[in-house]
This record gives sequence, C-alpha cells and structure tokens, in this order.
Amino acid sequence: MANLDKPSSTEEEFFAREEIEKKRKLALQQSQSLATQQREELKKLHYMKCPKCGMDLQTLKHGDVEVETCFNCHGIFLDAGELERLQKQLSHEKSGKWMGAVLNLFKNK
Ligand SMILES: [Zn+2]
Repeated sequence: MANLDKPSSTEEEFFAREEIEKKRKLALQQSQSLATQQREELKKLHYMKCPKCGMDLQTLKHGDVEVETCFNCHGIFLDAGELERLQKQLSHEKSGKWMGAVLNLFKNK
C-alpha cells in the first residue's frame, strides 16, 4: 500500500514548478512596477523642460493649440497632432500673424 503522507516525486516536482512560476511572476511584477515608477520619476524630472537645453518651456496658445516654447534656445515643441491643427488654423489666417509674432520673439537675441 502506498504511503499517503509522502508525496510522489511527480507531485513534488509539480509543487516545485508551481513555486518557481509564482516567484518568476512576482519578480516580473516587481520589475514592471519599478519600470513604471522610474518612468514617472523621469517624467516628473523632465516635464515641461526643453529636451535640448533643459530650461523651462513656456506655453504659447494659438486657438486650441498649445505650443511649448523654449526662450533659452528658441526651440518649439508640439504635442501629437498639434502640427496638423496649427497648420489648419494658420492656413485660415490671412497674414499668419500668430506665426509672425512667434518668430519675432526670437529675433532680438
Ligand atoms: Zn531649450
């Protein structure tokens, strides 16, 4: 008669594999949550900072488009889709006054 208290080697193997799988999943979760944390910290650190010179970006509004501008290196940053929206808005303006005003900001360096 088989001894019921002692698990067979197949059972032991199964539980060992389960244990390893649990720990592997836990490690994966920890690594993902750390990556998310690091991304959030990086975002906090870089948010609204110029990607080229690191100075603060200033927001200039044109209609519903917000253009981030660096007054230090004169770079301009647009969010996804804003270039197309800006182009549409500017094409409806006769003189492109707004773009002219933006360009004028950088003339007196
Ligand atoms: Zn800059």
